[in-house]
Amino acid sequence: MKDNYGRTIEYLRISVTDRCNQRCIHCMPEGGVALMEHGDILSYEEIGRVAAEAARLGVRKIRLTGGEPLVRPQLHRLVALLKETPGIETVVLTTNAVLLKDQLPDLLAAGLDGVNASLNAMDREAYRAFTGRDLFDPAMEGLQAALDTPDLKVKINCVPTIGREKQLIKLAGLARDTRASVRFIELMPIGMGGSLQGIEKDALLDLFQRSFGEPVRVPSTGSGTAAAEFETGTEHVEVPHSIAGPAEYVRFPGFLSDIGFISAVSHRFCEDCNRIRLTADGKLKSCLAFPAGEDVKEILRNGGSQQDISDAIVRCIQKKPEHHQFGLAKTEEDRLMSQIGG
Ligand code: SAM
Ligand code: SF4
Repeated sequence: MKDNYGRTIEYLRISVTDRCNQRCIHCMPEGGVALMEHGDILSYEEIGRVAAEAARLGVRKIRLTGGEPLVRPQLHRLVALLKETPGIETVVLTTNAVLLKDQLPDLLAAGLDGVNASLNAMDREAYRAFTGRDLFDPAMEGLQAALDTPDLKVKINCVPTIGREKQLIKLAGLARDTRASVRFIELMPIGMGGSLQGIEKDALLDLFQRSFGEPVRVPSTGSGTAAAEFETGTEHVEVPHSIAGPAEYVRFPGFLSDIGFISAVSHRFCEDCNRIRLTADGKLKSCLAFPAGEDVKEILRNGGSQQDISDAIVRCIQKKPEHHQFGLAKTEEDRLMSQIGG
């Protein structure tokens, strides 16, 4: 389905929980947040009903996120349900990877197509300082398990912040040593992000050049990474490089994969936005930076029909704003990334 600005909506991000086993400094306060009641969280079957209508309206790809999606029991059941939904072609996961190793076999059996692992430090102590938890080893084991799975798409996402340059260089080195591209995603003024200072693309590139030499820009076509598929942690875009705008991919000499710089805040690429979101408590959102649009939980729990769900999705898409307002005005969204489903 197209929205009012001619954008085709074919991507649904589903937050399955607002809970998390970490407390990353850019995302959640150490003291945690007021959590949703269990009864307020959509069941897998309820999510499946929404996904079925979204697919009928043209959604082809689903990303599961949170909070930390793997803390929700038996996530593989949801993956299987979504993969069986007519029209849904791809189901991927954004995770901190801490619980991934154990769950990966079930997720793969259910048909999971890809994993974006969020990683912001490469040393145990730096990892603990960033995430508030001493879970570096299981996170790396989860990432390694994903990398060891031949047909699974794997990407690494990092949000660069001032003062952590040594870690950022080490993280960039993962693109030298593994098949995963490493994407540096601009800090957003959401949740705890507002209290930190991010690092802009040019400064990062400069930092990496000093360690890795002169990179080449990844050409717009003809390489193994011909399509730019990038996720800001909150925004996800899949477009050819030729129109990828602010997403810049480079490859350093001797590297196995690319490094991406994604500047969703400073370079709005809303004109290519192809997604809507479903929060764990059943709110459909047309844009990360705007308040929830439609309450599908109300519909689901008050005897609503599939047509009622479809109508709500259509209303949500029709309300999709032309662009976000980060940096221009105070965002209307006051929930944390972990509550919206980053
Ligand atoms: N827990 C999972 C994870 O960390 O991948 C999934 C949810 S998390 C909210 C999704 C992504 O949002 C992560 O990559 C995280 O770094 C990113 N994120 C959280 N707060 C952010 C902020 N203020 N600006 C940019 N990205 C942010
Ligand atoms: Fe949890 Fe992901 Fe937020 Fe870190 S970024 S606190 S892992 S939801």
